[in-house]
Amino acid sequence: MLRIGIYGGTFSPVHTGHVQAAKAFMEQMWLDVLYVIPTGTTPHKQMDGEVTAAQRLRMCELAFEGMEGVIVSDLEIRREGKSYTVDTLEALFGEDRRLFLLMGTDMMLTLGDWREPERIFELCYPVYIRRESDKALDEEIVQKIAYYNQKYGKVVRRIVSDPIEVSSTDVRRAIAAGQSIEGLVPRSVSAYIKENGLYV
Ligand code: ATP
Repeated sequence: MLRIGIYGGTFSPVHTGHVQAAKAFMEQMWLDVLYVIPTGTTPHKQMDGEVTAAQRLRMCELAFEGMEGVIVSDLEIRREGKSYTVDTLEALFGEDRRLFLLMGTDMMLTLGDWREPERIFELCYPVYIRRESDKALDEEIVQKIAYYNQKYGKVVRRIVSDPIEVSSTDVRRAIAAGQSIEGLVPRSVSAYIKENGLYV
């Protein structure tokens, strides 16, 4: 059985929180391969008008360059229309493999509202990672996991890692305000952003 991880997101831009989460995911779920998949048009949020899908993809390639087992995929970008996780899982599913789907806390809490959640739970093992150190969500997380377990028959697993409290929004804001983004994104990504004048 191959153990395949899937990590999707807007990645506008990809940041150090994403990279650390991906590493912890690979280690703790014993993944053979991890697909990092930037969304095409995302159903979850408004797209950033100025940065193209090809540029978001390129930044992911730079961020994960040299990381063994990681495949940055244009599967969702190539697909017409909105990206739905269930379609991506269907595309990657196979009898010879087990799929693990990584998401941050915010996404995990909304998982029941995504398209075809029953099918998502059939096709993969959802996995979440805390992206905030704030304990305010503890109770809600416990309740949601119990609810999903009862409704879909699977426990959402957790990746344990010290949270890196950075978001793409923070990075975009810092750039727009003329502040340094050192440490918020990998060096190669920061150089690419600068060269291409993104998010200014
Ligand atoms: P934005 O600020 O634009 O909303 P974001 O930082 O949440 O962006 P996304 O590309 O939307 O980034 O995130 C992709 C996935 O990575 C989601 O499942 C999200 O929960 C998760 N994620 C984002 N930031 C972190 C972080 N710092 N640590 C762990 N997971 C994260």
